[in-house]
Amino acid sequence: MQHEITAWVHSTNQQFEAHHLSCSEFKELFAGYFPEEFLARSFYVVVDQIPLPPKELLKEINLGGLFEQQLAGLTLGDTYYLLPSAADNLRIHFHELVHVAQWQHLGVEGFLARYINELKRYGYDDMPLERMAYELDAQFVAGGPVVEVWPIVQVSD
Ligand SMILES: [Zn+2]
Repeated sequence: MQHEITAWVHSTNQQFEAHHLSCSEFKELFAGYFPEEFLARSFYVVVDQIPLPPKELLKEINLGGLFEQQLAGLTLGDTYYLLPSAADNLRIHFHELVHVAQWQHLGVEGFLARYINELKRYGYDDMPLERMAYELDAQFVAGGPVVEVWPIVQVSD
């Protein structure tokens, strides 16, 4: 099951590769939070519809209801997808970049396993991977203090 989602993640990112934009454009705005090299290896795509795994796959892992809510953004590995309405929202960019760092730290399979487990166990609002992203994006929006995101992601195990 996990493998099928992993395959879907890779094929989705490939499919949109021609349209992805580099997050290097945020290197000044997010300075101190994310290293330039990390931003240069992270991408986003503005899409009219957030790409979602096939419904049958989500049902099999009991997450059929998850994506019925309207998502403004979704991170898949090193790339995140945003609706046009979120494209200029720095807080959402920041939030999704925290997820890119989490994907990188945990690996694709590891991230998926953990995200799905946490979601089932805690629910979206209380799951640790989301709380971390929301706490950090709130801190960014509040104007600091500036913290490096990567070490925080690493000690979250
Ligand atoms: Zn999130």
